[in-house]
Amino acid sequence: MKGIGASPGIVIGRALIKKETEIKIEKEYLKNNAQEADRLERAISSAKKELEEILKNAQEKMTKDEAKIFEAHILMLEDPEVFGQVREMIETENVNAEWALQETTQKFLNIFNSMDDEYIKERAADLRDVRDRIFRNLLGIEQYDLTKLDKEVIIVAKDLTPSDTAQMDKNKVLGFVTELGGKTSHSAIMARTLGIPAIVGVNNITQMVNNEDLIIFDGDEGLIYINPEDTLLQEYLRKKEEYQYFKVKLQDLVGKESKTKDGFKVELSANIGTPKDVEEILRNDGEGIGLYRTEFLYMDRDSLPSEEEQFEAYKVVAERLQGKPVVIRTLDIGGDKELSYLELPEEMNPFLGYRAIRLCLDRQEIFRTQLKALLRASAYGNIKIMFPMISSMEELLQAKKILQECEGELREKKIAFNENMEVGMMIEIPAAAIISDLLAKEVDFFSIGTNDLIQYTMAVDRGNQMLASLYTQFHPALLRLIKKVIDNGHQAGIWVGMCGEVAGDPKMIPVLIGMGLDEFSMSPGAILKARWIINNLEKKELEEHLEALINMATSADVEKYIDEKIVVSAKF
Ligand code: PEP
Ligand code: MG
Repeated sequence: MKGIGASPGIVIGRALIKKETEIKIEKEYLKNNAQEADRLERAISSAKKELEEILKNAQEKMTKDEAKIFEAHILMLEDPEVFGQVREMIETENVNAEWALQETTQKFLNIFNSMDDEYIKERAADLRDVRDRIFRNLLGIEQYDLTKLDKEVIIVAKDLTPSDTAQMDKNKVLGFVTELGGKTSHSAIMARTLGIPAIVGVNNITQMVNNEDLIIFDGDEGLIYINPEDTLLQEYLRKKEEYQYFKVKLQDLVGKESKTKDGFKVELSANIGTPKDVEEILRNDGEGIGLYRTEFLYMDRDSLPSEEEQFEAYKVVAERLQGKPVVIRTLDIGGDKELSYLELPEEMNPFLGYRAIRLCLDRQEIFRTQLKALLRASAYGNIKIMFPMISSMEELLQAKKILQECEGELREKKIAFNENMEVGMMIEIPAAAIISDLLAKEVDFFSIGTNDLIQYTMAVDRGNQMLASLYTQFHPALLRLIKKVIDNGHQAGIWVGMCGEVAGDPKMIPVLIGMGLDEFSMSPGAILKARWIINNLEKKELEEHLEALINMATSADVEKYIDEKIVVSAKF
């Protein structure tokens, strides 16, 4: 079977199907409330047994602090205040246990979330976990917690949210395969950041695989085999070994410069989603962070992160990078990244909708909190701020004005920040690329976001697997836009980077070097391979191909030209 190779690596292991676990609760009135109260008791006691089992496991395998979480969950299950009220509601209002549980716990969650106290906020997260465990027991839903798997598995799912992926335990999840999603959907991006091999866009895979089936997959090629014959298995065991050898060989490039044979030096940076990803950057010798997707700080919780919490996250990253550049992008929520607690209205076209800078300029209290946290953190490292999804000069100037107001506020309070911090913007909307000569005068740098730039230029949803063949980095229109942005940036004397997935594409890297791109930001695992490619290139030679390339009529012609005349074999 074939899907879209989303994150490289050869994987051999047993399948674990992730069932859909969306819990929908409806209110019902029941005659026998004593029976319903019994149902609740049984669900609570099964939840407790599960937790005791997990706790035992955790005490053997995790640190004391990690194991303590489950002790807290067990204590919470025994809390008479919360569950006493659930029972009371069943008895007095004759409603079903699920409804009573939902209503009562929500009341407590609202109280917890209104308090600006980290400890209480953590208790809210615990209560949600415990509540969901009881829900699953009431409804008979089997659920695997991706953070607490007890053996190595390949996850097979209809879809995975970016936060599902971000939470995966890399030691247990060998890889994953999903039915939905494209190469640049956010769970695919997260998988590359975490170094978890993945294939997306495989029709009906959850129907075709059973738990414990043996699966082989190649995350580069997008190939999957279910219960393969022994000869195929042997072949892939050999391929896996070769792949690991290739990865070890790349380690020789740690500490080396990212420079072409004729001396054109670029910066190879990393894209990250959470401070945890910094480890991967250091391991892969990243020269900085070209994109910190801050939205993950806002996800998987019940309320907005406070200024203090954000400040800590940004500061930790800036400090760990020890003076290397850290480009932090302001909140880019919307599209395929949702925040349920903001209760945004449903939209017909979320990717064309109320997202990123549009939301921030509208809900300024959210934006200002983040900007102040970022400014404060800038005193601790080489932070640069970047605005996403800018489509016009007005938006850019308004965002800059708000930033200046936040700076004024901090100055007045005598709070330190970097007065010379660079401020840049993403170029991911064709309109911005077209007026990049004008925008360049207002910023210190551009970073080209090809994931969105491709989808908006070609009008192809980046996550729609049915359109994957139309979503291509080789379209001549894209090459022209990229070249225009780089030229306009340089004309205005600013540096131009790229943080979309194209920056790490072995076929496009030579083209971008020819165009003079200054910074390439990619998933940390792609950095050393990119360095190897760049070290083998001659910029002068590549410049000579540009004219021909941007005058080609079709994507197929562009790709063929790159394959035949430009590409450096990316394998040793
Ligand atoms: C992009 O659009 O290329 C980009 C880097 O941003 P994101 O993938 O987070 O939309
Ligand atoms: Mg984008």
